[in-house]
Amino acid sequence: MEFNDNYGVYVCPHVFNKESPALVGIRDPEGDWQFFCDDEDCPENSEPHLICVGHLTKADPTINELTCLKPGSFAQKIHANADWEYGEFE
Ligand SMILES: [Zn+2]
Repeated sequence: MEFNDNYGVYVCPHVFNKESPALVGIRDPEGDWQFFCDDEDCPENSEPHLICVGHLTKADPTINELTCLKPGSFAQKIHANADWEYGEFE
C-alpha cells in the first residue's frame, strides 16, 4: 500500500526544514502519522508541522512501507538507507 501524496501528516521542524531525513515514524492512537528526525528529545520539545506526505515519500519512497503501522505503533531506522524497524508503545 502507498500513501496518497496529498495525505496530511505531522513532522518535526527538522524534517519540515529538510535539516534531517525522517528517521522515526509514529502512528498515534488517534490514527495520525507523525515523522521525526533522529533527535530523541524532538517529539517532546518541538512544535509539529502539518505537510502532505508526498514531500516525504518523494525523498524516501520506503516511507510508504509505514502505511502498515497500526495506531499505537512506530518504526525507526538508524540512517536514511537502513531498513525500518518496527515496535509498539507499551
Ligand atoms: Zn526534529
